[in-house]
Amino acid sequence: EQDVSEYMKSLAIRVSGFDVPKPIKAFEDCGFPSQIMNAIKKQGYEKPTSIQCQALPVVLSGRDIIGIAKTGSGKTAAFVLPMIVHIMDQPELQKEEGPIGVICAPTRELAHQIYLEAKKFAKAYGVRVSAVYGGMSKLEQFKELKAGCEIVVATPGRLIDMLKMKALTMMRATYLVLDEADRMFDLGFEPQVRSIVGQIRPDRQTLLFSATMPRKVEKLAREILSDPIRVTVGEVG
Ligand code: ADP
Ligand code: MG
Repeated sequence: EQDVSEYMKSLAIRVSGFDVPKPIKAFEDCGFPSQIMNAIKKQGYEKPTSIQCQALPVVLSGRDIIGIAKTGSGKTAAFVLPMIVHIMDQPELQKEEGPIGVICAPTRELAHQIYLEAKKFAKAYGVRVSAVYGGMSKLEQFKELKAGCEIVVATPGRLIDMLKMKALTMMRATYLVLDEADRMFDLGFEPQVRSIVGQIRPDRQTLLFSATMPRKVEKLAREILSDPIRVTVGEVG
């Protein structure tokens, strides 16, 4: 067997935490069902990126993760693929129960990109994805959320609005992703992010991704993640 630490060095990746699951070298190592493998191939993804090599096994094992990696490193698939697996493991959703996976992103553009990527992988399973962000009609979003979805991708402000309007509850939410946490804080969303996290059951799985880890983000991570594994890709962090 190849020395894992040598392999990690070749990826310029640093990992810390206890009992870290071994990185994968190919998507085949993840044990994904065939529909997910087909969707990965259809996307033209031949090999997992560095962050995917380490993050996928960690997240698939159910652990919380802090992923520090810059834009373009392939973080979306690293949290979307395990999210689909997580949802397939859950009892089917009743209409009024609210989403199982909740993804927060700083801007509507980013939320929309994640929405598109999630839909590509969710489609084969009939997993429904809703996007919730500013600039879209609140009434339309309210109706869409009321119809039910397994995944919601949202900017923090609009998600809070929808929660206040009782368009959804988060009682079934067990998989929370905070994407680009540093940018969410830069844009002043810390109170909204904290409020959302506070409305999701504490036994959830939490994934926090950020290009940088300023003190405020580090503090949030300490407060809301349980025994996380930290994965740093490249020179950042
Ligand atoms: P990040 O969120 O880290 O900025 P994205 O998840 O948006 O990065 O991915 C950046 C680009 O790389 C996207 O165009 C995405 O489709 C592509 N990509 C992601 N994973 C892979 C992969 N394993 N192989 C090839 N391209 C990939
Ligand atoms: Mg991204």
